This record gives sequence, C-alpha cells and structure tokens, in this order.
Amino acid sequence: MLLGMTIFSKIIRREVPADILFEDDKCLVFKDIYPKAPTHVLIVPKREITSLAEAAPEDQNLLGHLMLVAADMARKLGIAASGYRVVINTGAQGGQTVHHLHLHLMGGRSMAEGMG
Ligand code: 5GP
Repeated sequence: MLLGMTIFSKIIRREVPADILFEDDKCLVFKDIYPKAPTHVLIVPKREITSLAEAAPEDQNLLGHLMLVAADMARKLGIAASGYRVVINTGAQGGQTVHHLHLHLMGGRSMAEGMG
C-alpha cells in the first residue's frame, strides 16, 4: 500500500531532519527522536509499506535485509555483545504510531523487564 507522506517518508526525502546513521538503496537508519533506551534507532525501508501486516511476498528479501541491517547496526553501535531488542510495532494494539513499517533497535540497558 502506498501512503505518500508519513514523517518517515519526509525524513527519507530529506524534507525533515533526522540524525541519520546509515543509508543504502533499500533503507535508512536514524535515531529515534524520543529514545526509550540509551541506544534507540529506527530501521526504515524506503519502500512505503504501511505495517508488517501489509507486507507482501515480494517484500521477503527487503524484510530480511532490514533484519540484517539491524544486526549490523547493533555491532556498529557497540551493543551486539551486551544484547539488544528489535521490535516491529504493528497496528493499533501493537502500539504503532507511524504508519510506515519500521524496526526499532534498542539497547544499552537491560531490555529484559518485559515487552511493555
Ligand atoms: P511506533 O510507535 O510507530 O512503533 O514508532 C514510531 C517511533 O518514531 C517512535 O518511537 C517515535 O519516537 C519516533 N518518531 C516519531 N516522529 C519522529 C520524528 O519526527 N523523528 C524521529 N527521528 N523519530 C520520530
């Protein structure tokens, strides 16, 4: 599903500033503006997919790529050895607020206190 303009589309198009840490042809990684952990970055596909629920079979390689970018970013940000959490909030009860699929990569503190 094509959405047009979420805040993430505007960041991808450089119409809204963000602290961008990585970019390739498929995705952008930038710091979350309201970090919930000492390290909290978002891995966002350039393709405008509303949510994981809207992902299609042709997105299989893209979804795998995003996961591998998350793991690579964890190494680059120095949280791979200590451990980290990768989250995809999906839909209303999943807590999704920006309707452009994204992975949260969070670490730098214990994330083991639950999923809340
Ligand atoms: P969601 O709740 O959809 O899973 O996650 C959206 C995330 O985007 C939130 O953690 C929120 O802090 C972050 N966010 C919302 N607006 C902006 C923004 O304009 N810039 C950045 N860098 N992050 C944002």
